[in-house]
Amino acid sequence: MNDNGEFKVEIARQTSGTELEVIAIDEAGNESEARIVKVGSSQGQGSGSAVEPTYIDGILVVNKKYGLPPSYAPGVNQTAQSALNRMLADAEKAGHELSVISSYRSYSYQEELYNRYVNTHGEEQAKRFAALPGHSEHQTGLAFDLGGTESQDDWLSGSFGDTPAGKWLAENAHKYGFIVRYPKGKEAITGYIYEPWHFRYLGVDTATDVYNSGLTLEEYLGVSGR
Ligand SMILES: [Zn+2]
Repeated sequence: MNDNGEFKVEIARQTSGTELEVIAIDEAGNESEARIVKVGSSQGQGSGSAVEPTYIDGILVVNKKYGLPPSYAPGVNQTAQSALNRMLADAEKAGHELSVISSYRSYSYQEELYNRYVNTHGEEQAKRFAALPGHSEHQTGLAFDLGGTESQDDWLSGSFGDTPAGKWLAENAHKYGFIVRYPKGKEAITGYIYEPWHFRYLGVDTATDVYNSGLTLEEYLGVSGR
């Protein structure tokens, strides 16, 4: 600081999203002050803010490798919702009453959910069934978790695939534009354990193609899942 109460800022670097480290040096070259100044946070936190949505052949791909930015917040896709309503109505006619357990989830909600799972199950386990914020297909507005209405015993469990409702969905979902996104025995490819309750909307043509191919979405599009 000089006689006029001024100092020359020599080093100013952002140490985190909200802090700026300022080191002031006086005329004589003595470091006279080092302080932390709060500055406005420019963007969301973490690396997610730089991510762009990935489309392969017009299909939005979200998995452990390809993520979405926090700002990607479309809500539930209305075309997917209409298709889901048709599927649920037809399932009911066939004797299977279903509930929508989960549909669109925002980035921040996924963040909360993931942290809760890590606290309960530990990070290793949580990563097998829960997506990191920005990496949940639910953020696309095109994914739905379904379960039987009679009992919640099979909700979000591999055993749902063995119930009559789970079997009906696995055999018929593609006719409405949905696929079982995380099939049995494909964890090494999709990055997720078998999730017979998680359905992803792709439209009837693509979903039928994927269903007939017997491939995961990653294999079908030729992309990596992890
Ligand atoms: Zn899901």
